[in-house]
Amino acid sequence: MRTPYVAGNWKMNLDRRAAGELAAAIRDHKADGVHVGLFPAMVHLDEVIRQVAGSAVRVGGQNCSDEVSGAFTGEVSAGMLQDIGATVVLLGHSERRHVYGETDEFISRKVHRALDAGLDVMLCVGETIEERRAGDTESVCRTQLTAGLAGVDRSALGTGSDGGRISIAYEPVWAIGTGETASPQQAGAVHTYLRGVLAGMYDEAAADATRILYGGSVKPDNAKELLSVADIDGALVGGASLKPDLFLPIIDAAL
Ligand code: PGA
Repeated sequence: MRTPYVAGNWKMNLDRRAAGELAAAIRDHKADGVHVGLFPAMVHLDEVIRQVAGSAVRVGGQNCSDEVSGAFTGEVSAGMLQDIGATVVLLGHSERRHVYGETDEFISRKVHRALDAGLDVMLCVGETIEERRAGDTESVCRTQLTAGLAGVDRSALGTGSDGGRISIAYEPVWAIGTGETASPQQAGAVHTYLRGVLAGMYDEAAADATRILYGGSVKPDNAKELLSVADIDGALVGGASLKPDLFLPIIDAAL
C-alpha cells in the first residue's frame, strides 16, 4: 500500500557540475512505483531542481532554519527552500544532532517552520551504539519521534496510500557511513516499533500511511534484503547515493 521512497543524502559532497550530472542520471532512470528524493548541498539545489524539472524526482534541503526570516547570518529558511522549488527538507539527521548539537526541541521548531512553508519533512531518528548496548534503542527513537513531531497536526500525516507530508528515516548512528548495516531483523523491529508509536500519537491510518525509511550503509548488495522487510518502506542513502551505478540499483531494489 505504501509507495516505496528512496532518497539520496549527498551531504557536503560534489561540485555544481557533478551534482547536475548525477541528478540528470537519476532523472533519466525509470523508477515507476518508487518515489525518489534528492538532498543536495544548499548551493546545488537550484541546479538539481533545474535538471529534474518535469520529472517525479523530489528535491529537498538537508536542513533549514528554525526561524522564518531576519538577522540569522548563514541560515536558510524553509520558505527560501520552497521558493526555489524544493518540496521537502531533511531534519534531525544524526550529523546535525551529534556534530552540531541540535536538540529535539530545536528540530521540532524546524519541523513546524517547514510544514508552515509548505515543505514535506523527512525526520531522522536513531540511536548511538552506546544507547543500543544499554538497551535504550526504543526509548531514544520514541523520544526523537514524539518530540520531533510535537504539535504536528494529524492533517500533515497521510491516509491510505497518499503517504502524507511526513516521512521518517530510521538511521542507527552506528550504521551511518561505517559500512556496518543494521540487519533486516534489527531494522525491521525498530520500524515496527516506530509505526506503533505513530499509531499511538495519531491513529492506525496515519501509522499505516507513513513511510519509514531505513538509512545507514545501504548499498546495492544489502538493499533488497532490507527493503523486503514489511515495515521498511524505503532507504535514505548517503555514500552510495553519490554514484549512479550504486544508487540506481538501490532504487530498483525498492520496486
Ligand atoms: P550512509 O549515510 O549511507 O553513507 O551510511 C546515510 C545517511 O547519513 O543518511
